[in-house]
Parts: sequence; structure tokens; C-alpha cells
Amino acid sequence: MTTTAPPVIEIRDLHKSYGALEVLRGVSLLAPRGHVVSLIGSSGSGKSTLLRCCNLLEDSQQGEVVFEGEPVRWRGEGMARHPADRAQVTRIRTNLSMVFQQFNLWSHMTILQNVMEAPVTVLKRAPAEVEAKARGYLAKVGIGDKADCWPAQLSGGQQQRAAIARALCMEPRALLFDEPTSALDPELEQEVVKVIKALAEEGRTMLIVTHDMRLAADVSDHVVFLHKGLIEEEGPPDTLFGAPRSERLRQFLSATR
Ligand code: ADP
Ligand code: MG
Repeated sequence: MTTTAPPVIEIRDLHKSYGALEVLRGVSLLAPRGHVVSLIGSSGSGKSTLLRCCNLLEDSQQGEVVFEGEPVRWRGEGMARHPADRAQVTRIRTNLSMVFQQFNLWSHMTILQNVMEAPVTVLKRAPAEVEAKARGYLAKVGIGDKADCWPAQLSGGQQQRAAIARALCMEPRALLFDEPTSALDPELEQEVVKVIKALAEEGRTMLIVTHDMRLAADVSDHVVFLHKGLIEEEGPPDTLFGAPRSERLRQFLSATR
């Protein structure tokens, strides 16, 4: 291949407010194919909002969101700005699967049904084909034997791995994780960390919001430190964690250690 693939996600100078509260104040971000980018920063710095702007779960007032070289088309301006093309939104959202802190599994569906739901109903894939893939992804995250259980019958770590299998079953271009281990007891956290590390080794494109500096240091190609809606510092993990330049980042890191 002589052509360079466009980044899976590119954010340019994004601004996002909730009413008078300016949460993102001009953020630019690049997630090249096969790279892992981690977002770190204090609670309230805008990490979840930035993640949700990437897959258009949130509107933004200014700046660009580009998916695989394709800019989101907007109509209106400022607080009245919204994506202009529903089909484009669906295409982008289904290609950027999100894994949430609280797993968000459907409690009235079995684990297998949870994993099969979106590929069948949203992507209109054949159920038999999706079931085979779903079972494969459940096995991959180490809970192949839980397919017929209800979410409530699983530990938090198993539920989060089911949520990862569900995201994988969409066969997305990138995975977006929002604090995937924060709701878990330390001993269950590691089983999820192991799965995320394996996905990173496979070369999957991932954007990970995390409090876990060890995870960020281990899996990331690039780490972004957000502070009050702006990127305060970013770089490769060795530099960011080993030789932080900004005083705010140094303070943040010493508080999390
Ligand atoms: P982080 O994930 O870094 O903790 P968030 O992106 O969740 O930060 O939130 C950034 C800021 O935006 C916080 O001040 C938060 O209270 C505010 N915020 C987040 N979501 C909403 C919302 N739906 N409505 C109003 N304010 C919000
Ligand atoms: Mg958050």
C-alpha cells in the first residue's frame, strides 16, 4: 500500500458548551489507525464529553469531527449546530463502539442476546452469522461459557468483558472506552485490563478514558492530558509519565500515585 490511511478519528479545534458552561474549549485529537490514545485528567476536565463528541452522542458548537477522512456535515451554527445527515451519524456511531463505566448491558436479555442485538437490529446482519461471531467474541474475552446467563448472574468484571464483546461484535473501526475499570473491584479490574491489553496488541484503534495510569502507560501510543477543557500536555507515555513538563500534569500524577 502506497497510500496512507486517514486517521480513524480526527478532532479539530472542538468547542462544546452545556448552556453557559464551556466544557471543551478548542481541543484537537488524532487517533491514527492501529493506535491507542489515552485521555487522562481530573474529574470534570471534559474527557467523557470529548469521547461522546467523537461518536456524535453529543453535538458541539464549533470545530470539526472527521471520521476516516470524512468530515461530519453540520447544519446551523453555535448552539443550534447539529449533524446534517442522519445516515452519516449512524455510520460513524456504529463504527465507533463505546464501552461504558457501568457496562450498560440490557438486564432483560441474556449475554448472547446483548452481544447480538445491535449487529442484528442496527446493521441488519443475519442472526445465524451474528450468533457465530458473538460466541467467538465471548470466547475471546474469556466468558464463552456465560452466553446463556443473565447480566445479573455475572461479576462486574465478567459484565464488562461482555460489554467489550458486544462492542467488538459491531466490528467497528475503533473502540471508545470511558473509564472501563472504574466501577470494578481491584481484583476484577485486572481481568478487564488484560482484555484491553490483548486488543491493543492486535493493533486495534482505541480511545481510552482512564484513571488507571498503569493501563495508560502500558497500552498507549499517545497520551493526552486534559485540563478544564483544554489539552494541557500530550505525548508518548514515556515522556508524559516519565518527564512531565507541565506543573498541572505533575500535580495530577502525584495525586493519582
Ligand atoms: P470528565 O469525564 O473528565 O469527568 P465530563 O466530560 O463528564 O468530565 O464533564 C465535564 C463538565 O461538563 C463537568 O463540569 C460536568 O459537570 C459537565 N457536564 C457533563 N455532562 C453534562 C450535561 N449533560 N449537562 C450539563 N453539564 C454537563
Ligand atoms: Mg467522565
